[in-house]
Amino acid sequence: MSMDETLYCPPRQPWRWVGWLLASQLLVAVLWGWLGWHWGLPAMLLSHALFLVPVFLPNSRFYGPVLSHWPQAGNRVWLTIDDGPSADTPALLALLARHQARATFFLIGQRAAAQPALVQAIIQAGHSIGNHSDSHPQAWWWAQGPKRLAAQIGQCQQRLATLSGQPPRWYRSVVGHTNPFVAAVLRRHGLTRVGWSARGYDGVARDPAAVLARIAPDLRSGAIVLLHEGGSPGQAVAVLEGVLQLLHQRGLRADIPG
Ligand SMILES: [Zn+2]
Repeated sequence: MSMDETLYCPPRQPWRWVGWLLASQLLVAVLWGWLGWHWGLPAMLLSHALFLVPVFLPNSRFYGPVLSHWPQAGNRVWLTIDDGPSADTPALLALLARHQARATFFLIGQRAAAQPALVQAIIQAGHSIGNHSDSHPQAWWWAQGPKRLAAQIGQCQQRLATLSGQPPRWYRSVVGHTNPFVAAVLRRHGLTRVGWSARGYDGVARDPAAVLARIAPDLRSGAIVLLHEGGSPGQAVAVLEGVLQLLHQRGLRADIPG
């Protein structure tokens, strides 16, 4: 077992939250019966909010384990590039090769199936791939039910396994949202959820310098850096180039676990 093997943490108790939900609603019922609706109703709303908030927190462990940094990484940093493959992929691979850097590409299943040569190029260059859903339904990812989540994650897993020769072990939530039904699907596929500790909001901002300025303070040993490809032309390459230069200046290097 390599040291990085300890990083793998597929959910072991994906339904643990059910117990908390039942207990909290029992408490609400007791409060309501005892003190009336003036206390019962706010308590109920508060209890529901407490179960909703973690859905939108990318590094929350409430609905299952998540890696939010890379422990014992030494001088290494984990670059993760979401939403590919895309027209940017060849240029990103060339840039990574020039810097002798490795990264994990979180791929969208349907895009991967449409561009199998890019998936193979990623693997052959020594990078790893992860599951980032089959069609990336970002507006409603948080509200997907168990069946749809199973199909989104399962189909992506199947496509990537066929294209790369083995099923991925890493999973990245669509826009970082994780609802109560995700963990059971991750457990079934032995997937470990990967969050992040550094991001530049490159999906929103157009200016690579602004994106880089937001990432820079968090570029340190063991950081998990969230990057995107397929946005406005040239942006992904410019941001990655800037990140690789910053890493070099700080005596850090981009590598992947496992
Ligand atoms: Zn994404």
